[in-house]
Amino acid sequence: MKDYCGTCTKCIDDCPTDAIVAPYVVDGSKCISYLTIELKDELLPSEFRGKMDNWAFGCDICQDVCPWNRFSTPHKESRFNPHENLLKMNKADWHDLTEEVFQELFRKSAVKRTKFDGLKRNIDFLK
Ligand code: SF4
Ligand code: SF4
Repeated sequence: MKDYCGTCTKCIDDCPTDAIVAPYVVDGSKCISYLTIELKDELLPSEFRGKMDNWAFGCDICQDVCPWNRFSTPHKESRFNPHENLLKMNKADWHDLTEEVFQELFRKSAVKRTKFDGLKRNIDFLK
């Protein structure tokens, strides 16, 4: 496709794990979204300790910093809105997360993809 990036390197510069290894090249095995959602191992690789920038499910910093995304508009789909209790969670609540609360917060949510054990693994890795 056409080059829309020009001299910009914001996504490369701001990726916490240096997963964008060259323009247009992502090493998926280093991406926080892969590590926290798709990787099913019992433990996250120790080389990423201290580099997760507090992300426990996905990341998308590369999207947040991309100047092109300033043209995006907020969605109008109510089913995308987070559970109201989710917005009240503090750091201690996350570390104390129980399976019961997980099931309530993430009913019908894509976060269930990690299952409770996967999300706990991710949260524990941030300690
Ligand atoms: S989602 Fe996060 S970790 Fe993955 S490439 Fe983008 S900035 Fe890097
Ligand atoms: S932040 Fe956006 S415009 Fe800049 S290099 Fe990355 S993809 Fe291209």
